[in-house]
Amino acid sequence: MSNCEMDMPTPCPRCGVVVDLHDMASHPNEFKSLVCESCHVAIEAENNQGLAIDSYGNKIAWEYLPDEGLLEICANGENIATWLCEDDPEDSLKAFMVIWNKAQALVTSEQGGAA
Ligand SMILES: [Zn+2]
Repeated sequence: MSNCEMDMPTPCPRCGVVVDLHDMASHPNEFKSLVCESCHVAIEAENNQGLAIDSYGNKIAWEYLPDEGLLEICANGENIATWLCEDDPEDSLKAFMVIWNKAQALVTSEQGGAA
């Protein structure tokens, strides 16, 4: 038997590419599901980024870089903060959003007082 033959060719349930069952990786989110290696990487990448809207309608996009342990935060398409983050990026983002919303509340109330 040649090395390039697959023992158990199986289509990836996510993208449909046929790979050997033994080369499949676990689905990062779904217990007991398997996906191909490239889907596994893509899903992990999706898990490590997100989008939030703050109390003032600003778009906050975040991306977690697990290799560097960094959380990059962008507001309205502009990078505004890079936080060290070694555990849960969603927890760090929540902490960031508290500060972010608080600062804006101060600005708007000061402006309101002056007007
Ligand atoms: Zn796939």
